[in-house]
Amino acid sequence: MPAGQCNICGWRGEFLRPEGGREGNLCGNCASSSRLRAVTYWLGKVTGNDGLPLHGWPGNRSVAILESSARGAYPVMLNDKFDYYATEYDPERIAAGDQPRTFADFQKLHFTDSTFEVVIASDVFEHVRDDAAGYREIYRTLKTGGTLVLTVPYRHEEAATLRRVDTSGSEDVFLMEPEYHGGGGHTLTYRTYGRDLLTLLRGTGFAVAHAMTEIPRLGITTQSVIIARKGDFVEIPQRESGKDSLPALGPLIPYRLYLLLKYNFAGFARILKHLGRS
Ligand SMILES: [Zn+2]
Repeated sequence: MPAGQCNICGWRGEFLRPEGGREGNLCGNCASSSRLRAVTYWLGKVTGNDGLPLHGWPGNRSVAILESSARGAYPVMLNDKFDYYATEYDPERIAAGDQPRTFADFQKLHFTDSTFEVVIASDVFEHVRDDAAGYREIYRTLKTGGTLVLTVPYRHEEAATLRRVDTSGSEDVFLMEPEYHGGGGHTLTYRTYGRDLLTLLRGTGFAVAHAMTEIPRLGITTQSVIIARKGDFVEIPQRESGKDSLPALGPLIPYRLYLLLKYNFAGFARILKHLGRS
């Protein structure tokens, strides 16, 4: 079993399910996958918070971060530290203008231009029907100098994206056996990306870097992360050279206990506020 440290919650130990590739190497405390820790690693670089597990980042409430379909421990922590919009795609609720911080369609974002410092899309865009529109919308709503941290099913050795569905007409036409992922397995996978994704992003206006990321001490298995910046250039180290581990954060808070305390405190605070008014 591979041992290391979780860069989300700070836990040290042997990662679980190492056979799971980037969906494996689960943290024994917060259950984060290799993929989520890779995203967190680059988010730390982008926001100047590397060098500590996410749980210990000082954060900055003036930094606006948009994400779609975030799962697990790290959205809770990001919400503590940043002006964090954790959104889901729900066409009916979006059409109703319901909870604009909670529901969003990347193909047609309802946010004004230059709203966000960072957009995170981790294994979302293979499910976005008009992905080019989605990347344009991210570019529009990012501030100048802002960054998209992107993961998708991606094969850097392939020049062209494998299209699983023809979306040129109004109806989806399946080009191969339909593949579904996500909650309950209902989310259609439109494509497996090749390097033409990088061309598409550059055509949208981004400066683009492909970061082949592998950091054994953080349980991050080999995977592609794409860093796209609304600016003239993007500069990132391609490989992690440091052998040192992240500093400890003091006693580790078990993640489930953390959630329980956090939500109960919030609940108590609301009750007290309500009692104060009546
Ligand atoms: Zn963890």
